[in-house]
Formats: sequence, C-alpha cells, structure tokens
Amino acid sequence: MTDREDTQHKTKIVQAGIGSDPAHGSVPPPLYLSSTYLWPSPSEKGEYDYGRSNNPNRTILADALADLDGGAGAVVTSSGMSAIDLVLNLIKADDLVIAPHDCYGGTHRLLTHRAAQGRIRVEFVDQTDSAALKAALSNKPGLVMIETPSNPLMRVVDVKAICAAAKTAGAITLVDNTFLTPLRLRPLDLGADIALQSTTKYINGHSDIIGGCVVAKSEDHVEQLAWWANAAGVTASAFDCHQTLRGLRTLALRLDAAEANAMAIAKFLESQAQVTAVNFPGLPSNPGYDLVKTQQSGPGAMLSFEIKGGLDAATQFCEALDIFGLAASLGGVESLICLPETMTHRGMAEKARREAGISESLLRLSVGIESESDLLNDLEKGFSTIS
Ligand SMILES: *Cc1c(COP(=O)(O)O)cnc(C)c1O
Repeated sequence: MTDREDTQHKTKIVQAGIGSDPAHGSVPPPLYLSSTYLWPSPSEKGEYDYGRSNNPNRTILADALADLDGGAGAVVTSSGMSAIDLVLNLIKADDLVIAPHDCYGGTHRLLTHRAAQGRIRVEFVDQTDSAALKAALSNKPGLVMIETPSNPLMRVVDVKAICAAAKTAGAITLVDNTFLTPLRLRPLDLGADIALQSTTKYINGHSDIIGGCVVAKSEDHVEQLAWWANAAGVTASAFDCHQTLRGLRTLALRLDAAEANAMAIAKFLESQAQVTAVNFPGLPSNPGYDLVKTQQSGPGAMLSFEIKGGLDAATQFCEALDIFGLAASLGGVESLICLPETMTHRGMAEKARREAGISESLLRLSVGIESESDLLNDLEKGFSTIS
C-alpha cells in the first residue's frame, strides 16, 4: 500500500456516511431500525423494502468496507462465522475446500462439520509447506482459504503466491484478514477473490458487537453473496452496523497505537529469561519478518509467547495481571491475554495442538491502546509472580 492510498483510506473511513441524512441533516448517519419500508405504489418499491434484504446503515458500512478493500462490493453479516459459511455457497456440493491446518478454531469446526454432513470435502494443509500445498492443489479444490498471520502462533504465509497457485488450480480464493484488516494487508490487490473480516475484532474495535463481512473483487461474486445472505437471513442488524461504522472511523489510529505497543512488548518479552519463544512477525528474528515487509504495511498487534514452567506457570501468570483482561477474542482497544491450551484451542485434540506447535504454556496477547509503560509493568508483575 502506498502512503497516498493509506492517507486516502484514513479520510474515507472517517467520512463514510457523514452528511447523508436527507431528513434533518444529522452529521453522522441516523440509525434506521425499521424492519419494513413504505412502497410508493404496489408496482414500485423504494430503495429499501425489508430490513433483512437491505438497510441504510448496512449499506453505508458495506460501501465503506468494500472501498477499503478495493472490491466491487461487500456483504455485511451477523458474524465472522456466518460470513465464512456464506462463502461456501459459491462452491458446488462435494467440492473440496483447502484451509490452513492452523486456521481459526471456529472455522475448523464449521468446515469439519459441513464436511461430515457431506456438503463439502475439506483438507487442512500447512500452507507454509509448499510441497504439501502443491499436493493439495492437485486435488482440484473449489475454494482455497488463507489466514495470515495464523492463530495463535502468528505464522505468516505468502498471500500472493498461494492465490496465484490456487487460481491456476481453478479455485476461488478467500483470505480471512481479521488479524490485519485492509489497513495492513490488502488481499484483493494480492490476487484473492474474496477478503473476509470478523468485524467483531479490529474493524469495530470496542468488543461490543458480533459481526462479519465479505468483500469480493467481482460483481458476480458480490451478487451471489448478497443473494444468499438475504435468502438465508445472515445479514447484520442495523444497530450492529451503526456501532461498527462508528468503530471503523478510528481504525487507523487504533491500529497504529496497538501495533506500537505490540512492538514494545515483543522486544520486552524477547529480553525476558523466563520466555522461551516470542511469536511476533514484527521482530527481525521472526521467520515471517521479510514477508511482512513485502506484503503488509505493518505486523499487526497480535502476538504469542511461551514461558517456562508449563501450564501452572502460565495460569499463574495470567491471574497475576491487572490490565490484561483474561478473555478470548481480540482486536479491541483493551488489552487481553488468553491461554490457548485451556481457552481458545481447548476444542482441539491435545495431539493436534502439539502437532500444530501450541504448547501448554503458550500465552496469546491482543495488545490494546493503553499506555505502553502500564502494559509493560503489568507483564513484569506476571513474571515476578512466577519467578
Ligand atoms: C473471531 C474470528 C472469526 C469468527 O468471527 P465471529 O465474529 O466470532 O463469528 C473468524 N476468523 C478469525 C481469524 C477470527 O479471529
């Protein structure tokens, strides 16, 4: 992303929908809670007719998100998961879906159970292993899903290369860009057909709504996705869209602040004797560092690290903190810590966790925008408890 594009995006997300109220000229758009709208005549409907199909607040948010990703259009959904399920409507029954072996747990569950129903076939692949990816692509997938950086180990994959290979194999490509947002990684510019967000996370950024969105490069995909979203009723509520647009306005500021804090924390963790590994793609020691420099405009604000002392030490560490809240989820203004072993990744079989490289003393941080020194002091308190 060029600096100029970045500057334009900052302005666009602040200005989206401002001054669009035809009735009273309110500065931000009003909240339209109506489920149904008046028809000018029985043979002619207005721009809006029924809230499941369309709503002014949803339209403003969808347009802003489509613009941010450089897509033909967007569909705003009730959650990140419903956005992922929505995309499955673009492929045929029994088509193969290739997904990262370390994808978001909810995505893993959804794909596994859709496959068990016989709706799709699924293959989970380590996308950092090019031989494994190549072998999977030779099975002619209908859809290839990409997620980068991965959760909770923050492994970075080459979006452009995977999209190109998947396209050659004839697949639709989908990037779950929840961790980075279009302000850090622009999947459609890197060759993806569809970019997806759990807007629950950074886009809304205040941990007070559940939502999702898909942005497609082609008009045809936008039309199909919008059709299915209305048919299946997975569109987002007016209130959630209103909240999300309000959150979106400060995305650039929030990401900058959280990313700077994450960088300081990663460096601090690297210097700690009780830390055995730090996973943050913004550190030069990280295997994904060079890729971040070429495909992204920043590393994001998620990181994980491993401490000595196993599950007991990890548990004590979490409990000793005051500022980092102990909770799953991410991308809010407030800092959170989680223990994947017993929290976000407990649904995974222990063997699968170990194979994926998730140890029992791995801790994941969603770094917020509080003061850097307060966050560092809080972590220091955690280390002094376990030493
Ligand atoms: C949270 C999350 C989802 C699911 O989104 P919900 O809004 O919780 O349904 C999907 N992918 C990633 C990467 C996520 O972090």
